[in-house]
Amino acid sequence: MASVPREHFVPPELMDRAYADLPLPIPRQQTISQPYIVALMTWEAGLNRKSRVLEVGTGTGYHTAVLAKIALHVWTIERLSDLSTSAGRRLKELRVENVTLLEGDGALGHSAAAPYDAIVVTAASPSAPQPLLAQLADDGRLVIPVGDRAEQMLRIYQRTAHEIREWTAGPCRFVPLVSPAAFDTEV
Ligand code: SAH
Repeated sequence: MASVPREHFVPPELMDRAYADLPLPIPRQQTISQPYIVALMTWEAGLNRKSRVLEVGTGTGYHTAVLAKIALHVWTIERLSDLSTSAGRRLKELRVENVTLLEGDGALGHSAAAPYDAIVVTAASPSAPQPLLAQLADDGRLVIPVGDRAEQMLRIYQRTAHEIREWTAGPCRFVPLVSPAAFDTEV
């Protein structure tokens, strides 16, 4: 994380807080996640140099850049086209090359590149969307904030040969995953 310049991802007027351990507002009423939560989610994803990762909720591209430092390749999906475009520009400026940017409803995953060793959802959902569980590789992990709009628990679902193992990593607060499969509206 120390090698990803967070000041590159926060709005210019909030630059002085780029290294505070806080979420910050970004355009379109979304947020750049708190560094601690980015670290926790990335840890729970259990990545290595060979990992193929799907991120749902590109936002600024900050978490994308952190994932790309560790993993082999990151596919990242964003529903708001303007956010995806600026994230792509930032990642290009930082020469982060092992990333594929996609636009659309990430609750459906991206079956074309499945299965994934990890799927990291950076928006809140009432439950783990079935298409995402279905796109996990053996031993793959889905990391997702599950709860209501106000607060969630960070949940991890790991596909094993016989079952899905589940555990909780702690409380968190994310903007909603907007999808017929999650929350219908932004507010
Ligand atoms: N990981 C980001 C923070 C993302 S905030 C960062 O580090 O900056 C959550 C993002 O999820 C928002 O940009 C929001 O537009 C996006 N989002 C919400 N619902 C989505 C969906 N169904 N598919 C893809 N992206 C979605």
